[in-house]
Amino acid sequence: MNKAEKKTWQERYSYCTELLERPDIVFVYPREFSRTSEVVVEKLQEIMDYLKYITGLNPTYSFKQRTVVGYRHPDNEGGKECQPGWLPNWVNIPWNYLKKPDEPMDACSHELVHPFFRCSPLHYRNEGWGEGFCDFLRGPVKRVVGLDGANWWQTMLEAAKDGKDSEYHYPAGQFALMAYEKFGQRSGSIEAFLNDSDGIRAFVRYLFSNFEYVSLSTLIMPSPKMEKKWMGKDKI
Ligand SMILES: [Zn+2]
Repeated sequence: MNKAEKKTWQERYSYCTELLERPDIVFVYPREFSRTSEVVVEKLQEIMDYLKYITGLNPTYSFKQRTVVGYRHPDNEGGKECQPGWLPNWVNIPWNYLKKPDEPMDACSHELVHPFFRCSPLHYRNEGWGEGFCDFLRGPVKRVVGLDGANWWQTMLEAAKDGKDSEYHYPAGQFALMAYEKFGQRSGSIEAFLNDSDGIRAFVRYLFSNFEYVSLSTLIMPSPKMEKKWMGKDKI
């Protein structure tokens, strides 16, 4: 474990006494964690392996540390439960998720996409699209760890259809539609496309190579909420 990983563990997750390491993940958890932690950390690494393949990126290398996934005690958060979240380079899992059987995989199906988006060429010009990008890849990532990715994409597609004002689901649904249109036809159904890592990879590479210098709003109409929060603030 390197210095940065150790510091993250000690400062953010001081109530976690147990630890398991994999090539891209440091998983820290309390003794009362009730599931088989070896199985859980294996699934978290599977998410990283999948995303490394899809994006061609390696956040462990870019951030010079692995992603620390930890259960965050309310005492570390001013007495409140935290929200699931990511910043370079850790993932917060709320303490009360200890009781949830699908966690921390479900929260990580969104949060572990964040380091990849941050390392991607899309980030420089399209920071505001990160939540949509993460929720788009959440469908196939859920499937990788045995959760219901098809139902997730269905929810995203409905949000794209009704134009719901969201910086998460609306762009995620637009990405899913566009990915399917461009690279998913050979799969047949959009559900089957979820399993097509090469098709999804082709779409992600298409975004990376075409929108490094161009705003994604030339491809997809941003939702009003995204527009208010992010447009005009694109980083370059
Ligand atoms: Zn997010």
